[in-house]
Amino acid sequence: MHIRQPIVAVLGHVDSGKTSLLDKIRGTGVQAREAGGITQHIGASFLPTETLKKVCGPLFAKMGGENQEIPGLLVIDTPGHEIFTNLRARGGSAADIAILVIDVNRGFQPQTNESLKILQSRKVPFVIALNKVDMVSGWKKNPPTKFITQSVKEQDSFVQTALDELLYNVVGTLSVLGYNSEAFYRVKDFLKEVAIVPVSARSGEGMPELLAVLVGLTQQYMQKKLDQTEKQTRGIVLEVKEEIGLGMTANIILIDGTLKKSDFILVAKRDSVIVTKPKAILLPKPLDEMRDPRDKFRPVNEVVAAAGIKIASPDLEGALPGSPVYATTDESKIEEFKKLIESEMKSVFIKTDTKGVILKCDTIGSLEALTDMLKKQNISVSTADIGPVTRRDIMEALAIKERDRHLGVIIAFNVKILQDAQEEAEASHIKIFHDQVIYSLIDNYVNWVQDDTANEENAIFQELTPICKFTFLKGFVFRKNNPAVFGVLVDAGVLKQKVSVMNTDGRKIGVVHQIQENGKSVDVAKKGKEVAVSIQNVTVGRQISEEDVLYSFPPSPEAKLLLKTFSHKLSPEEFQTLREIIEIQRKVNPLYAY
Ligand code: GDP
Repeated sequence: MHIRQPIVAVLGHVDSGKTSLLDKIRGTGVQAREAGGITQHIGASFLPTETLKKVCGPLFAKMGGENQEIPGLLVIDTPGHEIFTNLRARGGSAADIAILVIDVNRGFQPQTNESLKILQSRKVPFVIALNKVDMVSGWKKNPPTKFITQSVKEQDSFVQTALDELLYNVVGTLSVLGYNSEAFYRVKDFLKEVAIVPVSARSGEGMPELLAVLVGLTQQYMQKKLDQTEKQTRGIVLEVKEEIGLGMTANIILIDGTLKKSDFILVAKRDSVIVTKPKAILLPKPLDEMRDPRDKFRPVNEVVAAAGIKIASPDLEGALPGSPVYATTDESKIEEFKKLIESEMKSVFIKTDTKGVILKCDTIGSLEALTDMLKKQNISVSTADIGPVTRRDIMEALAIKERDRHLGVIIAFNVKILQDAQEEAEASHIKIFHDQVIYSLIDNYVNWVQDDTANEENAIFQELTPICKFTFLKGFVFRKNNPAVFGVLVDAGVLKQKVSVMNTDGRKIGVVHQIQENGKSVDVAKKGKEVAVSIQNVTVGRQISEEDVLYSFPPSPEAKLLLKTFSHKLSPEEFQTLREIIEIQRKVNPLYAY
């Protein structure tokens, strides 16, 4: 039996102290230099057993470390759920165990919940680092004892009580969420209870215990998973980037097996599988050997898992972060691995004709995590893809919206919305949910659906393009273009910001950007009002002229809805105006509003 070191990831809410905790873990490793120190990998740090033994002292033996199969810990250097979602592996995670950091004074925060949901969906066990204990009111900074149990004993009793209360708040919240948890020194069964370790990433108190708990847990419960006997070489792409002097490179976490320079390496691209022999396998140079900071890496011929490595190859262009990596010396196995990657990608990217939301994400990992969470909430997904939100996505959402208005939306995580997509979305009233927190993204969508269902008819009507007819007033050109600003009289209906406008030939002029009444910006202008409007990308005298009669321009499905479903909500004059709009449009597009 040959056991590899477990891969450890750190998650938690922003500012809970994830980065500081990682710094401290690395720092304690550096301090234990004479023992074995710490080895820098690409994107990870390796703490060998000797170092852990030194840092943890007698605790190491107590937690079962003396049994000694685990050769240390490989800690992923970048914290947070983003990197974690990309640390994906078929049906699970590349991380074997996680540290969930919680700020003791703040308790559960939105991203704590988000992290927990992701850990749950990827089935990754975790330990809680209850951080910033030095900030508990009244905490006395003793000479650094490092062991938290000892530190706590040296505090005034009211401080001990306060810490206990804060800790049990976390236990309470976790229990509501379905987890049993306990302060690590009271845990009886680490498989049934989540261990909470109070720590201070600032002073270092609690670090030995945190590391000892990690070693103990993996030592006792993960031997089978970590055993390398007959394990296929595989890993995960964390980042793809161009490096000066190296060209295209991919940072990879090697999860299992041995990667050799002569191996064929397979990774996923958006529409195919890359098969490459690496130009180089690279590890960081030890700091004291780094003479030129540009010369950061040292080439190696092979690496044994677990490890964080960089491979260089011009073929890596377009490789996807979160892609699985397989490696083999045996050329006849290439097809098999290609199929494996293809089938895995097929389950991640979704493209169907069924009704469902359109999901756009930045990486395979976030795409997979969001798809999982949406499915758990019974929200169907019609498209799941990587990349910015495009106009085409909006058009697809528009088609879906005709069949189901709640599914005709875009859910975008950490991606750009292209400008023409934004404009199209505004004009056709396609909602784009856009957030950098997975949890709030889904929550915002679900809340919208709930609110909307509660008052659906009204909500639909409110979102439709308002019916309006207005006249460009002669002598009221305030600006000819960029944007054009001019005075109008509202002849019928209601003029609103962001409404698309057409002329009597049925040609779209643009979108009303702003409305001003007596120099003040207003959202709406009703019949009879004289207001100034601004429209981008038109020039007075070209597309539009004084005394022109203009109309709001609902997209065809909206005009149809207004006509067939909501005519009772329109005033007779608005209804007449709608008929005029339809009549004008049908000359251009005979199917308009059919
Ligand atoms: P992250 O966003 O979770 O990575 O959090 P950081 O590590 O950047 O920490 C956020 C802030 O909390 C920084 O100002 C840290 O110095 C501070 N901080 C982190 N850990 C501790 C701690 O244990 N004690 C105290 N007093 N401050 C801490």
